[in-house]
Amino acid sequence: MKHRAFGLTNKQVSIIGQGTWNMEKDDRRAAIEALRRGLDAGMNHIDTAEMYGDGEVEELVGEAIADRRGEVFLVSKVLPQNASRRGTVQACERSLRRLRTDYFDCYLLHWPGRHPLRDTIAALEELREMGKIRAWGLSNFDEEELADAIRIAGEGKIACNQVLYHLKERAIEHAVIPFCDEHGIAVVAYSPFGSGDFPSPRSAGGRILAEIAKAHNATPYQIALAFLVRDPNLFAIPKAAHPEHALDNAAAAEIELSEDEIRRIDEAFPRGRRRGGVPTI
Ligand code: NAP
Repeated sequence: MKHRAFGLTNKQVSIIGQGTWNMEKDDRRAAIEALRRGLDAGMNHIDTAEMYGDGEVEELVGEAIADRRGEVFLVSKVLPQNASRRGTVQACERSLRRLRTDYFDCYLLHWPGRHPLRDTIAALEELREMGKIRAWGLSNFDEEELADAIRIAGEGKIACNQVLYHLKERAIEHAVIPFCDEHGIAVVAYSPFGSGDFPSPRSAGGRILAEIAKAHNATPYQIALAFLVRDPNLFAIPKAAHPEHALDNAAAAEIELSEDEIRRIDEAFPRGRRRGGVPTI
């Protein structure tokens, strides 16, 4: 598994990690097994949120990592409606209890909401000083919202921005990725397989993915991941509740695409025109 420094934190994090959204609907034993096999294969980044299954997924993740906390780069998120100065601290403490741990490696604001960002950031800084989180980040922020956050927090404080990024949705390449690169903010690609909307093998793009996959003895899903993490500041967090999917995702980190393969994927799934804001799921 390849690791990279996660933004300006000094943590080495796997370039492919593990998402957990909707895992409460999956077979529980298989999902826990998938997370553990993923850890065995070096995918130390596990992403969850208080929102997922109303806390049920955090409990599931807690069970999966109970005897392995030290191996994990554990991330959870506060819902915007809870992200007041006091509410953020309380939400974090509830999440820590469900996960049966006493710190997060990184804690995120799930998306911009009605509470003043200044208050949320003050709470995140307080949590960091208390040792309950090692770093904090944001999610679903566009480049202007990130610039506001930097004005409030100062440079070097925001570890990551977690955003929608997959072959059919490349809008963040226009401005969000360059902004994050410039400011040392890790970009974490969520829903890297389009959350169930993966290119059909019968589509023109799907056929190109299949050809490149064949040349690497890989699957189109693995080729998609290899493409998405080609920028040195990018991480992807596919969700897999089947252990064999988790192992495939981990193996994708080893695939080196040639310049010609990257060009063919780029042409098959064009990034499209620049739009305002950041796309969300
Ligand atoms: P996704 O990762 O794009 O797709 C998940 C689907 O792909 C599942 O059906 C999964 O099947 C399947 N899959 C996984 N690995 C596969 C493989 N190697 N081959 C074939 N199929 C495979 O969807 P997502 O859950 O929307 O996104 C990933 C994570 O990003 C989330 O779980 C969550 O942690 C995070 N996220 C964050 C936000 C945010 O607002 N910050 C929003 C959405 C998602 P099985 O599960 O059956 O194995």
